[in-house]
Amino acid sequence: MLDGFNGVVILNPTDQTLFEYGQLIRKQVTLQEKLRDILLKPAITLDGHRVFLTANVEQAGDSDSVTASGAEGVGLFRTEYLFINRDMLPTEEEQYQAYRQIAEALKPHPVTIRTFDLGGDKFLSHLQVPSEMNPFLGWRAIRFCLAEKDVFRGQLRAILRASAHGNVRMMYPMISGMEELYQANALVEEYKGELRKEGLAFDEKLEIGAMIEIPSAALIADTMGKRVKFFSIGTNDLIQYALAVDRMNEKIAHLYEPTHPAIVRLIKMTVDAARKNKISVSVCGEMAGEPIMTALLIGLGVDELSAAPPLVPQIKYMVRRLKLAEAQALAEFALNCESGAEILAKCQELAWHSAPSLFESKA
Ligand code: PEP
Ligand code: MG
Repeated sequence: MLDGFNGVVILNPTDQTLFEYGQLIRKQVTLQEKLRDILLKPAITLDGHRVFLTANVEQAGDSDSVTASGAEGVGLFRTEYLFINRDMLPTEEEQYQAYRQIAEALKPHPVTIRTFDLGGDKFLSHLQVPSEMNPFLGWRAIRFCLAEKDVFRGQLRAILRASAHGNVRMMYPMISGMEELYQANALVEEYKGELRKEGLAFDEKLEIGAMIEIPSAALIADTMGKRVKFFSIGTNDLIQYALAVDRMNEKIAHLYEPTHPAIVRLIKMTVDAARKNKISVSVCGEMAGEPIMTALLIGLGVDELSAAPPLVPQIKYMVRRLKLAEAQALAEFALNCESGAEILAKCQELAWHSAPSLFESKA
């Protein structure tokens, strides 16, 4: 017997074990029915607070799974998968078709396209990028794009052109300071000019946002908020950089702590900056797909949660079982707490109390 939730294989299970697992399967089936019942319902808390749930995708053809999950669009399209495992760069036309396909399929819902984040753990097979001592701190994402403008140009033009066919939003990964934002935006303006001259359509009001995944960006979010239309917090990287914990290193995985008080404060700081500038803020790292974290993120004031499509129904279920007031009380506790373990325990307590069926079927 294979228990995929706990990563266990049981050889020759006893009758008792089979009975216990039979009960778990029944609970799972009941949960799946509950999740199906709310598929088309909004993500709204018991006290009427609306949350936007969107999906993380990696391929233009993922739109069916987004719709099937009940997500209201895409909060993170990781476009680097168009670039890796191939011999040549994708052309502007090929990218345009891919972005257009998903934008058209999900319209009027938003599709948030992240410009590619290559380097770090993902490499372009055909570019001879020298190996680096610290690739995660190296020539990656927006840093690579601003240096390799020809590659970036193809993608920016493709995204701009696709914006004529749906509700496209665009965001830059790994923004560490204002200079990168100015430079990237200047390129966008230049390519808009090209497209106008060529008579190619694009959305003049295309919204551009910044990912907040480097602590320096969170610390200057109040300034950055004046120059972008939205923030998307990439907690996967934000945690690794804020806590100096390599997200791929198992030996230090115990230090990779989403509820570390420093992370809670960085998220709060970003939300406060978004409020001040009247822009929206989402979380698109793995934390957003973790039902135990839903109350904390909503309580801190995050407007949108973007998670892998199979996780979206559970997050919606959780949102619909919470009260904003109790989520805010949890966030308040977390902001004043000195221990990440204690914050996590409080998050678990509220999650289990609010939506026990999400957890008991995995026991
Ligand atoms: C993140 O860092 O949280 C994020 C969403 O980006 P990626 O996981 O692709 O680095
Ligand atoms: Mg990231």
